[in-house]
Amino acid sequence: MSRFWSDHVADLAPYTPGEQPGISDLLKLNTNEHPYGPSPRVVDAIKAATDDRLRLYPDPAATALREAIAALCDVEADQVFLGNGSDEILAHVFNGLFRKAGRPLLMPDISYSFYRSYCRLYQVPHEIIPLAADFSIRVADYTARRDVPAAGIIFANPNAPTGIALGLAEIELILKANPDSAVVVDEAYVDFGAQTAIPLLARYDNLVVIQTLSKSRSLAGLRVGFALAGKQVVNGLLRIKDSFNSYPLDRLAQVGALAAIQDTAYFEQTRQAVIAAREQLVARLTVLGFDVLPTLANFVFARHPAHSALSLSQALRERHILVRHFRQERIEQFLRISVGTPGECERLCNALSEILNKH
Ligand SMILES: *Cc1c(COP(=O)(O)O)cnc(C)c1O
Repeated sequence: MSRFWSDHVADLAPYTPGEQPGISDLLKLNTNEHPYGPSPRVVDAIKAATDDRLRLYPDPAATALREAIAALCDVEADQVFLGNGSDEILAHVFNGLFRKAGRPLLMPDISYSFYRSYCRLYQVPHEIIPLAADFSIRVADYTARRDVPAAGIIFANPNAPTGIALGLAEIELILKANPDSAVVVDEAYVDFGAQTAIPLLARYDNLVVIQTLSKSRSLAGLRVGFALAGKQVVNGLLRIKDSFNSYPLDRLAQVGALAAIQDTAYFEQTRQAVIAAREQLVARLTVLGFDVLPTLANFVFARHPAHSALSLSQALRERHILVRHFRQERIEQFLRISVGTPGECERLCNALSEILNKH
């Protein structure tokens, strides 16, 4: 540890993203990026905005983009909060909503691992609640009466890395049982088949829904996410944001994201293509002997009863195919595999078939 560091730096547990190595015939199925590029209209809009205006600061409120998202989601523009990727929004949420002495944050043991990193960074008291044996979120664990209400509850829906989704009625039970806790539903993968909680916003002022353009709109490189919540919650997040960086979305990100939101036809077509490829991938992996959790995301979470996940991931790596393996209790026998194009899924399954036959 360096003598220049502030005291808390050594104790942080930074998030480890999937690797991005520069191998030429690499098949990257390890970070849940979209296999098709973004809408061509996004690229056109960014090109058209790439000029002298870059000397000017962007609109700090990103008004045009917020209004487009509000129209898409049928909420008011002042219920929309934007961030440089939804990870940044999550950081503000942990900082702004979950730091309450004596009132823990509740979250599943298996979920997006960044949540734990933010707990460390912002010293959020938290209680880890194990998923059920089938890796689903057990709603009753979040609806039991507590003497002191939790500061908040956070989970991804569909959950990551399991891909398993809760239905709207189950989310509503959690909201209803926790009127004094901020309930944050991270919907990074919701466009691939799960139900969004957005319609519940009108009735529950404790709900925060977070979405991203990184996955279903194929814009991981642009860094745009948004949260939807009641106006009071959004105002709290704005106070945090404007105490941190009042221009989180640059000019190009704002116009590119706006074009992506507007191109509904392209969005629909590419997300349906991913859903169809996922169903085929699940079927092929099942034939190869894998147990595949029921997924509504753009990835599958699968284990083979006769082969260690670590050795499978290494054998795939030798064939220049990257998948994600987590060295974490309960899930170390699983591989998380992003859904690629049908051709990419084919290459993956052929490689797996060869590896399984050899050992
Ligand atoms: C990918 C992902 C995010 C982060 O998305 P960005 O908008 O790219 O920061 C958030 N939550 C979950 C569960 C994710 O998988």
